[in-house]
Amino acid sequence: MSEEEKKHEGCCGGHHEDGHCCSGHDHGHDEHHECCGRGHEHGDDHECCGGHGHEGGNEGGCCGNHGHEGSCCCGHHHHTPSDGEDQVRMFVVGQLQTNCYAYISQGECLVVDPGASGVGIAKHLEDVRIKSIVATHGHGDHVGGVLSLQRVTGARFMMHEADVELASHAGEASEQGRTYDNNAPAPDQLLCEGDVIELGTARFRVIEAPGHTPGGIVLLGEGTALGLAFVGDTLFKGSCGRTDLAGGSHELMMQTLARLKELVPAHTTLLCGHGDITTMEDELAYNPWLQDGVVSDGIH
Ligand SMILES: [Zn+2]
Ligand SMILES: [Zn+2]
Repeated sequence: MSEEEKKHEGCCGGHHEDGHCCSGHDHGHDEHHECCGRGHEHGDDHECCGGHGHEGGNEGGCCGNHGHEGSCCCGHHHHTPSDGEDQVRMFVVGQLQTNCYAYISQGECLVVDPGASGVGIAKHLEDVRIKSIVATHGHGDHVGGVLSLQRVTGARFMMHEADVELASHAGEASEQGRTYDNNAPAPDQLLCEGDVIELGTARFRVIEAPGHTPGGIVLLGEGTALGLAFVGDTLFKGSCGRTDLAGGSHELMMQTLARLKELVPAHTTLLCGHGDITTMEDELAYNPWLQDGVVSDGIH
């Protein structure tokens, strides 16, 4: 397994047999289950993520066609969208197991990083109005499903200008020879530092986060989304995004991580682009890339 594949494994790499779900903690599928940092109880008919049916041999991935009612992995999603509480749903999509998130507030939905399976994602969100689609950056595993999701929903697509070119070729073979669903369509809106995306009673403030790519962004929740941040491939549990791909910059990544330490409060839950969800508090304590004086060239 390549280093990259290793890095990207994690959320749901077929490990349901032994009872692990997204955050690596054990659970039975029909009992209390804390998948993604925001506790919730599951019914017994739950497919968390990823294409590896369990409990009755369901097939298809998270946003594929496994035919479940309800949703996937993350957050407050066992309430109906009309009960007033915001929800996060997570779908793990594509070869690199990208975490695609849907944030729902007052029946309005923001989809972050539909990396593949746009039509399948839309099927899982038929109960809400998908208002916006945001790409945290322009890599194919984060934008490959934008075109199909947008065709089905008519949602507004937003990303940072500096990754538009990258995203417009995202469906072509990558440096690793991978291919993704589609090139991204031209964005309807360009995002930059300080922009605020609103939906329902939630807001997300854009923090520019170059390093992994030139146009990477972090979305920091405010209003009813306070305490959440979508961090894309900038920050992972115990790691940060690789900087050796086209447009990557180790120097910028280090500057970005230093800014995030200032701007993202410790209590914030970090919704990462791959693998486990974590918190800023844990990363400040354990992530070697966030320790003072880190100068390593790293292994990612
Ligand atoms: Zn990436
Ligand atoms: Zn990625």
